[in-house]
Amino acid sequence: MAKSKKAAEGDDAARTPGSPESPDAAEPREAWEARVRERYGKVLAGYIAGRGIEVPVGWRSLVEDGLAQFELVSRRFELDATVALVKEKFGTLRFHWDEGIADPGAGDTAIALAVMNAVVSDLQSRALGTCEVCGADGAIERTSPFVAKSPRCDRCSVARPSGSSS
Ligand SMILES: [Zn+2]
Repeated sequence: MAKSKKAAEGDDAARTPGSPESPDAAEPREAWEARVRERYGKVLAGYIAGRGIEVPVGWRSLVEDGLAQFELVSRRFELDATVALVKEKFGTLRFHWDEGIADPGAGDTAIALAVMNAVVSDLQSRALGTCEVCGADGAIERTSPFVAKSPRCDRCSVARPSGSSS
């Protein structure tokens, strides 16, 4: 049977969050990141030089959602909000940002900050339930007193030797 092949060409306007079928066929990180940086250039203008968007494949669409929301909020409140660093650390999503507020005394500033904080904490809690490999919902956080790993769904958490079925 032929595998269904999805074009890696980019402009998929209607995003389907995570395509669990083929994590192996994921876009290479550099290509994905280049596309994201181009799309969200303004928001990422203050990104730390030399650092990449260091998240597992399964979290990519989540991160793109977050950047889109950032862009919206920034525009709505006429800010220059920027994201300085996005990464995975100890199984959680870290999102470092700067609100870009020129005049902290301005009327809508407190609202803008509240909205941005809500956007970020929503992203972080969604990441905790999103499989790092395939992006499926309902993943469990793999923590123990000694390690905190990124969440995985049942399917991806089973280390399957390739070609084991016969
Ligand atoms: Zn998975």
